[in-house]
Amino acid sequence: MTNLRAALLYGPNDIKIEDIPKYEVEGDEVLIRVKACGVCPADIRLYLGVKSAWTPHYPMILGHEVAGVVEDVGENVNNICVGDRVAVDMMIRCGKCHYCLIGKDNLCENRGPFYGGFAEYTKAPKRNVFKIPSDLTFQEASLAEPLACCINSIEKLNPQYGENILIIGAGPMGLLHLQLLKLKGVSVIVSDLIDERLKIARKLRADEIVNPLKEDIEKKIGKLTNGRGVDGIIVAVGSEKAIVQSINLAGKLTRIIFFGAVWPKTEIPLDPNLLHYKEIILTGAHGRTLKQFYQAVNLLSTKKIIVKPIITHTYPLERIREAFETVVKKIGLKTIITI
Ligand SMILES: [Zn+2]
Ligand SMILES: [Zn+2]
Repeated sequence: MTNLRAALLYGPNDIKIEDIPKYEVEGDEVLIRVKACGVCPADIRLYLGVKSAWTPHYPMILGHEVAGVVEDVGENVNNICVGDRVAVDMMIRCGKCHYCLIGKDNLCENRGPFYGGFAEYTKAPKRNVFKIPSDLTFQEASLAEPLACCINSIEKLNPQYGENILIIGAGPMGLLHLQLLKLKGVSVIVSDLIDERLKIARKLRADEIVNPLKEDIEKKIGKLTNGRGVDGIIVAVGSEKAIVQSINLAGKLTRIIFFGAVWPKTEIPLDPNLLHYKEIILTGAHGRTLKQFYQAVNLLSTKKIIVKPIITHTYPLERIREAFETVVKKIGLKTIITI
């Protein structure tokens, strides 16, 4: 048996590139030669040892934003061939629990084993593996997972034609939300503290941009909406401050989506009368369904969503520590490991 190279996390700030035995595939399984795997804030929380929703089991291989080439298939795989270029949904859903059965398999209660994408090879069941066209790069295809999570968020928001939607945070997720919303016939206001990010938001056709450090965001929104406030707010940063701000900015019937997880754990003040008198809706969005992953691959494949301007940093697997530090320091937008 041969080996594969992988980035193994042994504990907070302790990551090493090592050889481990190459995976065998059988039945429905597909072995993928990883070409690109995006770095997600969830990876960074585990890397830094920040307490979060996931309990780490060391040593572990992180990385769930995977694109690559099919290397081998189990005997029951007939939809995918060796050599196919693919994007991979790394979440294994049971298909049998309550949430899977009602079509909300993003909330599956019996998730299968996770193999990790910061490695030369990974594996996944055939239904999680989606072919990509030759003119979509592996780096671009690795954004199928984050894009799918944003599709889930937009579905929760349920935007209507002509509405005004505010996105707080113009990081990779905010910019993906922006593009999805532009496909829905709504006006989008993007808020961020970093002008460079707002410039990219403008390029990606944000109707309005606002830096709250330089402009009164409440006044600006009031002006744009005849004093009513926006119809929807996406909080695309994991910040308590942004969440409190979103509630303060809500008008009558404003729907708010908490998209970013907030760690370390926190609590926010909430005046229940705001919800009562204004009929504000507060909800969140987590993960993606397999259907949404498929939709994300289709949007990338047909160039309805453009991710090139969002990808700012790439590092080879050997330099994964530098890649993580880039994300920790919030330098650029999306950082991707190429393997
Ligand atoms: Zn992610
Ligand atoms: Zn399930």
